[in-house]
Amino acid sequence: MKKIGVLTSGGDAPGMNAAIRAVVRSGCEKGLEVYGIERGYEGLMNDKMRIMDIRSVSDVINRGGTFLYSARSPKFRSEEGMQQAIEVCKRRGIEGLVVIGGDGSFRGARDLSLRGIPCIGIPGTIDNDIACCDYTIGYDTCLNTIMQMVDRIRDTTASHDRCSVVEVMGRRAGYLALNAGIACGATSILIPEVPYDFQRDVIERIRRTQRTGKMHFIIIVAEGIGGVDELATRIQLETGIESRSIVLGHVQRGGSPSVKDRVMASRMGYYAVELLCQGIGNRVVASQKSEIVDYDIFEALNMKKSIDIDLYRIAHEISI
Ligand code: ADP
Repeated sequence: MKKIGVLTSGGDAPGMNAAIRAVVRSGCEKGLEVYGIERGYEGLMNDKMRIMDIRSVSDVINRGGTFLYSARSPKFRSEEGMQQAIEVCKRRGIEGLVVIGGDGSFRGARDLSLRGIPCIGIPGTIDNDIACCDYTIGYDTCLNTIMQMVDRIRDTTASHDRCSVVEVMGRRAGYLALNAGIACGATSILIPEVPYDFQRDVIERIRRTQRTGKMHFIIIVAEGIGGVDELATRIQLETGIESRSIVLGHVQRGGSPSVKDRVMASRMGYYAVELLCQGIGNRVVASQKSEIVDYDIFEALNMKKSIDIDLYRIAHEISI
């Protein structure tokens, strides 16, 4: 292996820059030529890339987002788009790729690997929704951001004896909502994985907590459940407690990565280059109980991950 490329794809996540940096630096140290490809598979198809050196990744470890930019590329999913990307790799002499992204990006990496360009996936997504990993790059920073935002909301909520219904990211996965809910002492947490009953899981919990003397309430709702405006209106109607809805939105994606995200991204980036140097492709680098391991991409995409129901129960038991 003489030349490799690195790209970030799909939704951005804090810590992606640290992963790119690790790929570039460990690649350069191993004598490889490393191409930084812009805007994910879109840039690969359109040959938008530059050679990176050790200093080209200075001052990025502390920055959120991805300095290589990210994109969603529908064309890449077609055979024509895929062939265009392969031609660019062949013309440039790129023999391996590191793809930092989520499940969708790994599907692209699998398809490229099948067509002769070995790819290694690195899990970069704030949602922590990749089945083979117990942690993904960006998740820790995002959780901390949510916690800080909700702490601020709590100050004003408590000052006015209100109820705040806060929507956090997570369309299909409730990891952010569940863990942020615990960290912020939410009275109720609504996540896509667990069906809820409005009276039992929201109203009765608020009333029970109210009877113990607490006068303000935080309800954390995953994006996949949505409807926070309506929830707040219904809570106010049923309980008489002034209720407000807040959608945290994209503030959750940004910001300087946490120590954990920087360290894990650095370890994963290094590990990905090691695999490519051994001529190994079609793998996803994963974190399992803080160890770095790797899985076949097919296997990884077919794995299932479930929410920790015990944690969900604990959250509701202690948030009264
Ligand atoms: P994420 O990687 O965060 O899950 P997406 O699902 O948007 O984000 O995927 C990112 C990109 O990966 C897409 O724009 C597309 O170019 C590529 N991709 C997604 N799904 C597939 C697929 N089934 N086959 C090939 N490429 C895919």
